[in-house]
Amino acid sequence: MSEDEPDEGLEPSFSPTPQAQARAGIERALGGIGHVLVVMSGKGGVGKSTVAVNVAAALKTRGFDVGVLDLDITNPNTPRMLGLDGFRFEGSGPFEPPVVEGIPVASSAFFRPPGRALAWRGPMKQKMITDLFQRVAWPDLDVLVLDLPPGTSDEPLSVSELVPSEMLSAVLVSTPQGVSQDDVALNFKFAVTVEMPVVGVVENMSPFTCACGREHAVFGRGGGEALAEKMDVPLLGQIPIDPALREAGDEGSVFVLEHEGSDAASAFERIACALASRFE
Ligand code: ADP
Repeated sequence: MSEDEPDEGLEPSFSPTPQAQARAGIERALGGIGHVLVVMSGKGGVGKSTVAVNVAAALKTRGFDVGVLDLDITNPNTPRMLGLDGFRFEGSGPFEPPVVEGIPVASSAFFRPPGRALAWRGPMKQKMITDLFQRVAWPDLDVLVLDLPPGTSDEPLSVSELVPSEMLSAVLVSTPQGVSQDDVALNFKFAVTVEMPVVGVVENMSPFTCACGREHAVFGRGGGEALAEKMDVPLLGQIPIDPALREAGDEGSVFVLEHEGSDAASAFERIACALASRFE
């Protein structure tokens, strides 16, 4: 062996960690995606999926190419809300996401038989999240909207680790009442800790006016405004309670497209308008 030739036996050999491999794969998968909009909340049942689906559709109407990725691994509701209940990915991928109203959609539900409950710890969820980014053949998109489960645990943590922070915008969803405000305030602290930029609060299930003209504040009033002030972020919109919104979700039709001009649809439009300037 000449002096110039390295002795291969002495060369250090590094193999990337699974985490580094996942990040590299995700960076490739996100190559055609401009922004990732994270819809999250510390509280369950406040309307995260509803907001994710309808804001995605409102952005699409404004001319953005938008996709929806359901990252609620154990209780995915987005498929039903978009009329994709029972849809399954076949084969070993890459998987073509089904398209609803021009919006490509993927969910962990597409990988398993309907009705199967999961009892998964963090690493299994992380693997599924990585697969949903990497093995789905996402087209070029201006915005990929992520529908997250409640809390500050595995799923949002994985997103903050896998998606570059400069691509992320987080919207926090809260209902007006105190218990929701408490949980979303913690969610905000989490977002700050993991460097996920919070672009605003959406108040859902806000007071509504019934046909007789009386206003009903079922979950109280002013909570979203108080939260936004406390966290020093904009209040992007207030979506009133509307039974048609619940019906649309159950039936798999997109409310904002079916009920144009209603108070709730106008609220979604305003939220999309506020976000659009960030995505242009
Ligand atoms: P999360 O994703 O936070 O668990 P969902 O989006 O699944 O919440 O909403 C919970 C339930 O409340 C769903 O049945 C949904 O259709 C309904 N819902 C959400 N927002 C409203 C609203 N503004 N008016 C009426 N029903 C709503």
